[in-house]
Amino acid sequence: MSIRVTTVSKRFDDFLALDNLSLEVPSGALLALLGPSGSGKTTLLRIIAGLEVPDTGSVRYDGEDVTELSVGDRNVGFVFQHYALFRQMSVFDNIAFAMRVRGWPAPRVRERVETLLRLIQLEGLERLRPGQLSGGQRQRVALARALAAEPKVLLLDEPFGALDARVRQELREWLRRLHDEIHVTSVFVTHDQEEAFEVADLVAIMYRGHIEQVGTPREIFEDPANPFVMDFLGNVNVFHGHVQRGRAMLGGLEVSYPEHPHDQSRAATAFVRAHELDILRARDGRPGVDAKVAHINAAGGVVKVRAYAEDFGLVLTVDLSPDRYKELGLKVGDPVYVAPRRVRVFVRDQWV
Ligand code: ADP
Ligand code: MG
Repeated sequence: MSIRVTTVSKRFDDFLALDNLSLEVPSGALLALLGPSGSGKTTLLRIIAGLEVPDTGSVRYDGEDVTELSVGDRNVGFVFQHYALFRQMSVFDNIAFAMRVRGWPAPRVRERVETLLRLIQLEGLERLRPGQLSGGQRQRVALARALAAEPKVLLLDEPFGALDARVRQELREWLRRLHDEIHVTSVFVTHDQEEAFEVADLVAIMYRGHIEQVGTPREIFEDPANPFVMDFLGNVNVFHGHVQRGRAMLGGLEVSYPEHPHDQSRAATAFVRAHELDILRARDGRPGVDAKVAHINAAGGVVKVRAYAEDFGLVLTVDLSPDRYKELGLKVGDPVYVAPRRVRVFVRDQWV
């Protein structure tokens, strides 16, 4: 089921929340809508869902105009940040809810709930109430509930926003795997760049009611469409290379990558956020690259350093704490060694 949004505008009083916006989500894709708070992401998602009617423009599912269809007639699944489960109902009854509303026969409901419990890896917990689950488990139940009536489209609005960082990371990976299994066309709203790039096939960057750019994570990183996108992505460093025999070789960085033990090499890209890079005066055995300090901005709570790694033609952005900056006594022109504390390596078919 593809989704096509064509020249949609939406005004709230004097405020133009969506400004003649068009977007296409290919059938089976997982698209992340990424943008700062207030850019119109939720409004767009609600219009795709049928919870909100646009002032102008249209929404099509597989070519069929659904702009005037109510949410109930569109068969969409939702997960919101605070889409509370029914607290008095068991996990089983929560997941079964939409199917029972639609009058599915009991054996079919049971079978489907069991399938979904396996999918969300909560088999055996179906008798518990939401209050007896962790936050991450509850959001998995919310997702199962959203998927229960076999929606044509799955819409997620900051679904992991209220969870702590570690659980969010787990759920992200888990959502990606889930989507690889079920391939329901999905739109995932987030203001977290890392989340968008890790989870999605396609990322749409939104700003002030516009889509600034749509592309694969790689396209957006390699070829930002405009200064807004470039600035928005500015604090992430990108290294290109490949993985082979348990190692990732990425523009001068070499790190272990046991997930790919094979002899044949696969293209890979790694992202390192600015605050995950450290600057050292000398090599200390950690993976890293030689660079020269090109620019220092010490205004504000974080010291922003740009360092040029000439061997690889890379400009690296490093965020240092003021203490670390003082300790290093950095000056423009200093030769340094830049070492990541954390590297995220991506090896994916569409990245090759
Ligand atoms: P995002 O999800 O990207 O944070 P929203 O789509 O929620 O952005 O909101 C975009 C803008 O539209 C915000 O400035 C918000 O204040 C405004 N807005 C959203 N919904 C309404 C509403 N129902 N009435 C008035 N203003 C709204
Ligand atoms: Mg929102």
